[in-house]
Order: sequence, then structure tokens, then C-alpha cells
Amino acid sequence: MLRLPPFLLLEPRSIDEAIAMRAAAGDDVMFVAGGTDLYPNMKRRQQTPATVISLARIPELREITGGPAEGMTIGACVSLTAVATNPVLSAHYRAVAHAAHTISTPLLRNMGTMGGNLLLDTRCNYYDQTYEWRKSIDFCMKRDGEICWVAPSSPRCWAVQSSDGVPVAVALGAEVTLASSRGVRRIPAAALYRNDGIEYLTKAPDELLVSYHLPPVNGWRATYHKLRRRDAFDFPVLGVAARVDFAADGTVHAARIVLGAVASYPMEIPEVAAALVGTRLEPTAIGTAADAAYRPAKPMDNTDFTLGWRKEMVRVYVQRALEELSRGP
Ligand SMILES: Cc1cc2nc3c(=O)[nH]c(=O)nc-3n(C[C@H](O)[C@H](O)[C@H](O)COP(=O)(O)OP(=O)(O)OC[C@H]3O[C@@H](n4cnc5c(N)ncnc54)[C@H](O)[C@@H]3O)c2cc1C
Ligand code: SF4
Repeated sequence: MLRLPPFLLLEPRSIDEAIAMRAAAGDDVMFVAGGTDLYPNMKRRQQTPATVISLARIPELREITGGPAEGMTIGACVSLTAVATNPVLSAHYRAVAHAAHTISTPLLRNMGTMGGNLLLDTRCNYYDQTYEWRKSIDFCMKRDGEICWVAPSSPRCWAVQSSDGVPVAVALGAEVTLASSRGVRRIPAAALYRNDGIEYLTKAPDELLVSYHLPPVNGWRATYHKLRRRDAFDFPVLGVAARVDFAADGTVHAARIVLGAVASYPMEIPEVAAALVGTRLEPTAIGTAADAAYRPAKPMDNTDFTLGWRKEMVRVYVQRALEELSRGP
């Protein structure tokens, strides 16, 4: 049985108290929300903070507010179940609710939160293993080692951004609010991520993710398609999030396609947008856009399935996502 290492657990009752505790706790400290990512990582000794600040008892972080006309705000500690089953989100932000619904299992969705999902650690077959397993290969540079076993001559880590919520957030043009003892800032969700398997967030370690802001719905359509080995539960090996905005005459005015699980960050493919703008999402335009997505997608050999097949699936899944959007809201 894998056991948690010893740690001090703090339980603030407000955002202000959490920020003050974080500022006072030094460097060896992490926030935890549902714990469905952090606690397994701690059991595998990938992360071993001396102090853990639980956000579970902060009611302000558990609210969903707003509506499709003005946009919606989801508190960082709203559970994935609450996101997946919220009637307004399901009706107007189907991609967000659907992505949450595809995450892990019902029990884990009850514990796991939207904020934790947006900040999920990157994943790799050589990293998501027990301490003993990792020790047997002399570890790797993401934790305790020197080398990258996926690309041994590489100076960087290629662990994969594997959250279902992240590509959707970026495709929608969502924003997040971050708070620390230095103040509050609101940034595009896209600006939260970095193409590096170790330093995968731009967020400072002491910044608390307070909320996730969805843009108003004004005629755009969005969807999320996920590839995984088992539909019952599995991390994505490919996620395709798409948002398409239409002009009054029914032509595509703007488009954003974001791939998850093919790089260390949510990968936006501008070539797809270029192939769609001005079209009516007809089959030839969709085919050209799917080809445009296929070329830059370069999955690494550190998740499930073979590389070539995962790359080929980019074309298939982008095509399916756009075909769905072409059929109407
Ligand atoms: C078996 C299994 C299957 C899974 N399948 C999937 C899947 O298919 N798709 C998927 O996307 N995920 C999957 N997950 C991962 C995880 O369950 C979800 O991503 C979940 O949403 C994480 O949320 P959490 O609240 O539990 O995060 P936590 O574990 O609490 O935190 C995750 C990270 O975010 C930080 N953090 C959390 N909240 C905040 C905050 N408000 N401010 C600052 N930092 C914060 C923590 O310090 C930690 O680094 C799976 C997990 C398991 C165990
Ligand atoms: S990509 Fe390389 S450095 Fe990163 S977790 Fe995998 S083996 Fe380790």
C-alpha cells in the first residue's frame, strides 16, 4: 500500500486566510483542493510538501455565478460533478460540462475540482510511477533525476498536459483570477500554460486560483472530443477542443482549435482557424482544417498508444469535432 508522507495540514475558512497562511508558510507548501491529483503524487513521492493548505472549507470558492448573456464564473473548488451536472453550463457551455463529465470516475469527480483540473500536473509514463519504480530507472529530470527517458539528449522535460478542462478553457477564450499576498490578477486561461513538462504553469507557486471565467455566449459553438483507451475512465491521450464563431451570413468569422495531450501545454493550431475563416464549415473546408491540425501535432512516446496512430487520430478527431459544430448548436 502506498502511504502519504507526513505533512502539516492547514484548513483556512476564507480566501484571505488561505493567502495569509500561504505567505507565512515559506516555500515548502502546496494548496490542495480535491486532492485527486496531489495526494496520489505525494504517495508516489513526486511532490512532498511539508505543509498542505486545503481549500475545501472555503465556501467562496464553491460558487457558480452568472449566465450565458454576461458570462459565467466557476469557483476554483466547484466539483467536477457540479460542473458536469449544472443545468446552465450543460445548456450553454456544453463543452465545459462535457469535458468535466469525461474526467475519471464519479467518485473522483465528486472530489476533484475545476481549479485542480486547470492546474493538473503534466503526465508521463516514466513519471507517474511509484518511488521504487522511478528509482529502479534512476529517476528522471522531472523529479530526483538528471535525464529525460523519453528524449535522452533533450535538455527539457516533455511530460504531457493531460487535463480535459484545459483545452476547452483555452479554446473558449476563458480567463482565470489568481490571488496572492501581492494582489489579484485576471489573465487569459491560455496565458496560464507553458510548453515545459516541469515548469508547466506561469502561475507563481504562491498564487491561489480563485475562479474560472467563461465568456458570454453570442452565437459561437464549441465542443470537446476525447480519445482514451477506456471510455469508463482514463486520462486523454488526445483532446480536441473547438470553438467556432459565425458571422450573420452564416460564414465562419473566427475559429480556435486547441489540442490537449499532445504537448506539455494546450496547443492551439492557428492553421486550422485560417482554413475555416470565410467558409460555411462545409466538408471540404473541414477536411482542409483537419489536415492543417495533423501536421503540427507531434505527440511524444510517453503516453498510451503508438505515436503514429495518435498523430493520425488528430486529423480524425478534429474532423469529428468540426462536423459536429457544422450540424448546428
Ligand atoms: C484514476 C484517476 C483518473 C483521472 N482521470 C482524469 C481524466 O480523465 N482527465 C483529467 O483531466 N483528470 C483526471 N484525473 C486527475 C484529477 O482527478 C482531475 O484533474 C481533478 O480535476 C483534479 O482536481 P483536484 O481538486 O482533485 O486537484 P488537487 O489534487 O487538489 O490539485 C491539483 C494541483 O492543483 C493545485 N491546486 C488545486 N487547486 C488550487 C487552487 N485553487 N489554487 C492553486 N493551486 C491549486 C494543487 O496544489 C495541485 O498541484 C484523474 C485522477 C485519477 C486519480
Ligand atoms: S518527459 Fe522525460 S523528464 Fe519529463 S517526466 Fe517523462 S521521462 Fe521524465
